[in-house]
Amino acid sequence: MENSVQHNGTSQSCPVCNAQSDELTVSSIGSTRDRAIMHIACEKCQHKVMAYSAESEAGMVTFGMMTDMHAHEALDMMQQKAIDSDDVIAAYRYFHEEYERCAQEPGI
Ligand SMILES: [Zn+2]
Repeated sequence: MENSVQHNGTSQSCPVCNAQSDELTVSSIGSTRDRAIMHIACEKCQHKVMAYSAESEAGMVTFGMMTDMHAHEALDMMQQKAIDSDDVIAAYRYFHEEYERCAQEPGI
């Protein structure tokens, strides 16, 4: 499904300013056989969108969300390790310890 946003037969346009595909820079962030994540940057209005597309029995499903990330930042983010339960426990401990430390200081 590489570059499916560009090659799926539908015309693409910017969701903000309606600029057409020749004014969009589409970067593949990741894909599998039936799913793709794309970063779409509009040269006309400078807005950026992360779009997720998946093929299903019901057809192609696509949704997007605005982002302030550039394509290389989105790629870096997607390659980071997923948050797991140990990370959540570590964050809870950190905030709990900070709360206890602040509660013991006078004048705060
Ligand atoms: Zn635009």
